[in-house]
Amino acid sequence: MNKKSIYSFTLNELADWLVEHGQKKFRAKQIWDWLYKKRVDYFHEMTNLNQECLDLLNEKLVIGTLKEEIKQESKDGTIKFLFKMTDGNLIETVLMKFNYGYSVCVTTQVGCNIGCSFCASGLLTKDRDLNAGEIVEQIMNVQKHLDKRNKEERVSHIVVMGIGEPFDNYNNTMNFLRIVNDQKGLSIGARHITVSTSGLAKKIYDFADENIQVNLALSLHAPNNELRTKIMKINKAFPLEKLMPAIDYYLEKTNRRITFEYILLKDVNDHKEEAKQLVQLLKNKRHLSYVNLIPYNPVDEHNQYSRSEKKAILDFYQILLENGINCGVRVEHGTDIDAACGQLRSKQMKKEKQKV
Ligand code: SAH
Ligand code: SF4
Repeated sequence: MNKKSIYSFTLNELADWLVEHGQKKFRAKQIWDWLYKKRVDYFHEMTNLNQECLDLLNEKLVIGTLKEEIKQESKDGTIKFLFKMTDGNLIETVLMKFNYGYSVCVTTQVGCNIGCSFCASGLLTKDRDLNAGEIVEQIMNVQKHLDKRNKEERVSHIVVMGIGEPFDNYNNTMNFLRIVNDQKGLSIGARHITVSTSGLAKKIYDFADENIQVNLALSLHAPNNELRTKIMKINKAFPLEKLMPAIDYYLEKTNRRITFEYILLKDVNDHKEEAKQLVQLLKNKRHLSYVNLIPYNPVDEHNQYSRSEKKAILDFYQILLENGINCGVRVEHGTDIDAACGQLRSKQMKKEKQKV
């Protein structure tokens, strides 16, 4: 049986686990210091633990489970990592450099069951959820990569926008967020973390009730049900009349700004009419809304879609702006290295299939 990753424990869980196994509670804090501040790779480097405690950790737990398969670096400094997990499944993690710091995009599931019609991750149904440790480990591997380059560089921001639907793996995603946010560990500020969902309305209510300051982004992509159902079949289960009240609840409860993601697909959802409908949909919450217009990253298998013309993007943006909706056009990172979610993984899996 595979040993459990030590990265999957919150600090309290690790303390409880140690006590259950006859160790002192205070060891948890020492171990976290080695894991997240000194960032060691092996238990035997934890020199202030006694032999009995080291033996226990070595016998029952592991530090690293991910194996780096591919690392692609883009001209703009974006780095895409492809990791192999212990069961052989591949996942992607992306490191991006911004003027405000380093941001990492993490994967939460192997594949995705939501199956949006434009997305490379949805091409394959979900194989399994990642556990919290596997999500934390993506951040740790990237941080260790930065450590090797320069001891001062830190992952300062996280976006949960890689492969998978985080709210379809809710508990592991929440544990991941608590672990990386904990001041005794990596201490990445909650306000610097954003979780993106395709719109699982029920879980948006749960997320609003969590006592955590993490940002929420909603992949909206269309301003009416007909169009949204056409491009995102999840809209059948959670149409706008169910989704928008969940968003209103979130806004009321948290008073935090929400980001609406809107991929612009040529001649599909990028007409002026849709921009006007979007204004109507958001006008009663515009003080807490930000619309992120995303240029589509073409996916080989979805050739019915292409990127909107520059003029269409600009017109769309203008209409939102003129009507008082905060918005921006996403600056792309790493387009030369398949950086859209799921693209590197799906290419690598095709290659592996060809080998068989
Ligand atoms: N499942 C979640 C989070 C992962 S997808 C969600 O859907 O929100 C993260 C974002 O990338 C979503 O807004 C998604 O719509 C977008 N995306 C997916 N495929 C894309 C592509 N080919 N080009 C641009 N954005 C894409
Ligand atoms: Fe899944 Fe998000 Fe891709 Fe939709 S866009 S298939 S929810 S990963």
